[in-house]
Amino acid sequence: MFENKKILVLGMARSGYEVAKVLARHQNQILVTDANEQDPDHVNELENLGVTCMITKDPLELLDESYDYVIKNPGISYHHPLVLKANELNIPVTNEVEVAYSLLPEDVKIISITGSNGKTTTTTLIYEFLKEAGFPVHLGGNIGFPLCSILSDIKKGDILVLEISGHQQHDFIHYHSDIAVMTNLSEVHLDFFGTYENYKKNKSRILHNQTKNDVAILNLDNDDVLEVSKDILSKKLYFSSHVKADADLEEDGIYYKGEPFMKCDEIRMKGVHNYENIMAALLATKELGIDDDSVKHVLSRFKGVEHRIEFVREFSGRTFYNDSKSTNVKSTQIALNTFHNPTILLLGGLDRGHSFDELEPYMTNVKAIVCYGETKERIYEFAKRIGKDCFVCQNLIEATHKAYEQSDRGDTILLSPACASWDQYKSFEDRGNEYKKVVNEL
Ligand code: ADP
Repeated sequence: MFENKKILVLGMARSGYEVAKVLARHQNQILVTDANEQDPDHVNELENLGVTCMITKDPLELLDESYDYVIKNPGISYHHPLVLKANELNIPVTNEVEVAYSLLPEDVKIISITGSNGKTTTTTLIYEFLKEAGFPVHLGGNIGFPLCSILSDIKKGDILVLEISGHQQHDFIHYHSDIAVMTNLSEVHLDFFGTYENYKKNKSRILHNQTKNDVAILNLDNDDVLEVSKDILSKKLYFSSHVKADADLEEDGIYYKGEPFMKCDEIRMKGVHNYENIMAALLATKELGIDDDSVKHVLSRFKGVEHRIEFVREFSGRTFYNDSKSTNVKSTQIALNTFHNPTILLLGGLDRGHSFDELEPYMTNVKAIVCYGETKERIYEFAKRIGKDCFVCQNLIEATHKAYEQSDRGDTILLSPACASWDQYKSFEDRGNEYKKVVNEL
């Protein structure tokens, strides 16, 4: 599919760079374009491989009917003028994952994980379970490693565990998963997809191109997941934290096919949402014949993924948690549900215009809010309306000190900002690392 072709790569960054390198090895004629200056070492390396790199804010003229494909960075809108022009010229627009997929060796099994929340945790759990049990497994996708960057390590018969975003699914052509996991669906990221209907449609593409030989792992408690999966061809397996299912959560622990599997107090990760991620990962790996001991061994020591309700430190009777990955109100609700003691909540970040009102029912244990960043005034208004103490700070460093000052022994201090980080940080990882640094220096 991607050999001896003329290809325009729209958006460089890590994934454009990796895909251009792979495509160059397959005798394609490649032009990479980006609006911003790129790492000169990457540009040099690509140019040495015969790739043309063009930095321009106006790439429209670069595309004409002589191109066979446009490979788009998943973060670029499908309303981008160059994408619209490609559509007009009937040039297929796809992405890095699809390219890597088309170049995989035979008999590679793909497990894809998608959903609104819990993707990275579930993806990591599946990978850790399989690795522990000695399967030949690779981790990739939207989890930090573009699939193209690990392509040369993948051998016949290997297993790939891939976190797949809705943005990526939008541009898939043939991508197919042997096992697809849908953690849940809720109204997030509407800025990219416009409407929730459109978002659900794009999020569920990986389910719809499965066949009857494939398996879909689905959240039985989520009506939207049930709706988007109603007509799929694959075998459906369900997990639930409320009712009996293929894997379910009962008072004393997790059950698999009606039999007790593991008690919650033997599992290091906490929170119902994490038990749901565990059940999804258990169902996926059981389909590959994993042994119980490998799963149990991982669950007894795995603390969770960094920046996701991550325990940071206990200091002077206070416990600090970093949930910097919480970039929407829904994940902050989940974090607040996990703690039952008095909590000081740090909120704030990029202003996408979303409301904080949906946090209100989850605020019972919150004794004060400390807010910062672009959304600080709106958070302050929200806190006043619901009668909570609220302290306004300029940035996270100041906010962390303020939270400590206002706390007492026995309190939890929780960074779960309910906003993206880009007003003050390059990424949620940078934000979480700064918080941890300040906390560790207290
Ligand atoms: P994603 O990769 O989908 O963003 P993560 O695993 O990184 O998800 O978790 C991000 C945040 O989402 C967590 O800090 C937690 O607040 C929330 N979360 C995790 N798993 C779930 C789940 N199964 N259901 C709802 N929320 C979840």
